[in-house]
Amino acid sequence: MTEPSPEQQAGATGAVVIAGGGFAGLYTALALAERRHHPPILLIEPNDRFVFLPLLYELLSGELRSWEVAPRYDTLLAGHGVAWLRDRVSAIDTHASSLRTEQGRELEFSKLVIATGSRPTSFGVPGVENHAIGFRTLADVEHLQGLVQELRGRQRPLQRLAVVGAGPSGVELACKLADLLQGAALLELIEQGPELLPKARSFNREQARTALLRRDVRLRTSTRVLAVEADHIQLGLPAAADGSSSEERLAVDGVIWTAGVTANSPSIHPAAAIDGGGRLLCTPELQLRDHPGVFVSGDLAHVEDADGEVLPGTAQVAFQQADQLAGNLLRSIAAEPLEPFLWRDLGEMISLGVGEASLTGLGLTLAGSAAYRIRQLTYLSRLPGRSHQLRVAAGWLSDLGRPLFGQASRS
Ligand SMILES: Cc1cc2nc3c(=O)[nH]c(=O)nc-3n(C[C@H](O)[C@H](O)[C@H](O)COP(=O)(O)OP(=O)(O)OC[C@H]3O[C@@H](n4cnc5c(N)ncnc54)[C@H](O)[C@@H]3O)c2cc1C
Repeated sequence: MTEPSPEQQAGATGAVVIAGGGFAGLYTALALAERRHHPPILLIEPNDRFVFLPLLYELLSGELRSWEVAPRYDTLLAGHGVAWLRDRVSAIDTHASSLRTEQGRELEFSKLVIATGSRPTSFGVPGVENHAIGFRTLADVEHLQGLVQELRGRQRPLQRLAVVGAGPSGVELACKLADLLQGAALLELIEQGPELLPKARSFNREQARTALLRRDVRLRTSTRVLAVEADHIQLGLPAAADGSSSEERLAVDGVIWTAGVTANSPSIHPAAAIDGGGRLLCTPELQLRDHPGVFVSGDLAHVEDADGEVLPGTAQVAFQQADQLAGNLLRSIAAEPLEPFLWRDLGEMISLGVGEASLTGLGLTLAGSAAYRIRQLTYLSRLPGRSHQLRVAAGWLSDLGRPLFGQASRS
C-alpha cells in the first residue's frame, strides 16, 4: 500500500494540520497522537531536527550530545501516527481553510494549529545580521564552538567577546562561555536596561550576578549597542550625572546577539489581529480571536491569563499548552465546548556555567551542582517522546561518574 500524500493526509476528513514543529507544535502533535481515535495529523516543519532549546548551552559546552538535545523528527515521530512534511507554511487562507507552502503545495485543513514561534530580531541595529552570531540553532552552536577553539588556540592578549542582552539566554551563555574559554578572552555582557534578568526571581538574579562575578564576566547595564562591525561594537554609555551622553568603541573578536525575539507568523488572509510584538491575539481556548477553528500556541500566541497578564513566550508555557490544545482540537472536531488554557507557573531554572544552575519553584530554592542535576532531570522528563527520554536516560546512566568538564569532544 502506498503512503498517503501530504495533500491526501491534510484533506482527510477531520485532519489536523500543525504548522511548526517546535515546543508548541511537536508536543501538540505527540499529545494528540496519544489520544484514542485521534484524527489524521500532519506536521509541517522545515528542519530535520527538533532542538530542545533550554539545553542548547549544554550542547555548546559538550555536557550533552547533539542527538540528545536535537533528535531527528523522523525518529521522534516513527510509529506515532503523525505524518511529517518537510516544508514551510508561507500563507494561510482562514476562510478557505487552506494553506500554501514554500515548495508550492496547496493543502486543505479541517483544523489548523499555527505554532511557528518567534525569531531573533536585531531591532534595526546596524551590522547585527552581518557580524553577530545568534544562539538558537545547531549551526550557531558549531559557529561558537569554532570561535572558542580559535580564541583558546590563539591566546593573544586582550581577546574579547561581547554577549548582547542580559536576559536568561545572555546570562546562561556568558557563564558557559567563560567556563569554556578558561581565561582565553574577556567576556562583556551588555544590557540596555538597568538590571540583568529583569523578569527573574530575585534569588536567581542574585545567583546569576555571583556566577558572572566569579567568572570575571563584565556586566554593563544601561548600555546600548549602537552598531556592530566586524572587529568592534559601538556602545552608547549610560548618561552621566549632568545628563550628557557618550559613546565607546569596543574592540571585539566576536559578538553574540541574544537581545530579543519577534513573532514569526506566516501571512494570514484575511489578516488576523496582532499585538505590538506581532503575536496573534488568541482567546483563552487558544483560538485566533477573529478566526475560530484556527488555533495558535507557543511564542506566537498572545494569550492572557485571568488577570489580563500576557503569558510569557517560554517553553514551559508551550509545553503546557500542548496537552490542553490536543483536548480542544478533539472537542472542536466533536463540536463540543472548548476549555480555556490555565497556565501553572512551575518556577524558573537557569544554568550558570558548567555543572551549575539556579532554580526556584515548586517549593524549591536551590543553586549549585544539586540544582544542575535537578534541572537536567526535569528536562529529561520533558524531552519529546518516551523512547527518546529512555535513550537519553540510558546514556546519562552509563556516563555516571565521568567528569562534567572537558567533554567538549562528545558528539
Ligand atoms: C537558547 C534558548 C534557550 C531557552 N531556554 C528556555 C528555558 O530554559 N525555559 C523556557 O521555558 N524557555 C526557554 N526558551 C524559550 C523557548 O525555547 C521558546 O519559548 C519555545 O521554543 C517556544 O516554542 P514554539 O514552538 O512556540 O517556537 P519554536 O520552538 O521556535 O518553534 C517554532 C518551529 O516552527 C518552525 N517554523 C517556523 N516558521 C515556519 C513556517 N513558516 N512553517 C512551518 N514551520 C515553521 C521552526 O522551524 C520551529 O521548529 C529558550 C529559547 C532559546 C533560544
